[in-house]
Amino acid sequence: MFEFSAGSPSLCLVDTVGNRGGADIERLATPQDFTRWLREASLLDPEGREALETDLVDARALRDALYRAALAIMNGKMPAPADIDGINALALGTPPRPQWVNSEVVHVSGDRVRAALALLAGDAVGTLADAQLGRVRLCPECRMMFVDKSPAGRRRWCSSASGCGNRAKVREHRARKSQEGSAT
Ligand SMILES: [Zn+2]
Repeated sequence: MFEFSAGSPSLCLVDTVGNRGGADIERLATPQDFTRWLREASLLDPEGREALETDLVDARALRDALYRAALAIMNGKMPAPADIDGINALALGTPPRPQWVNSEVVHVSGDRVRAALALLAGDAVGTLADAQLGRVRLCPECRMMFVDKSPAGRRRWCSSASGCGNRAKVREHRARKSQEGSAT
């Protein structure tokens, strides 16, 4: 149900709203959904507490602020100051910190859910910088937001399991064939 193919944790969070701009699909409907999302994203280990309603509210606010701000930057506009303030405020939280325990690196945090939100907000700041560099895209098929990390920087479609790029290519191919057919 959740996909993690957007190229960054914060953009994977953005994509928990499906079909943006159309009939939005809310995939984080309950705190339990957010807990499951954090676990599937490897941002919360099994010992971590469950997310609460307040955590869900913050996660959705971060997600939607990042979506609007990145979209504004992609369109050459200034993001709303309230959106940037919201992202920056959460990014001031303490993300998980590395510790050397029993000969290996272990990431620890006081409150694992809040630490995960701080990590996501910090990543969101990096995503805004990627947007500034023209590296954040909207898939023309499914409107999923993703960061293009290819060396050439010319990726058009998301790499989600729905296969948007393939679908579009098949459609273009069919359109070309039918045009050729009607020309003869
Ligand atoms: Zn797509």
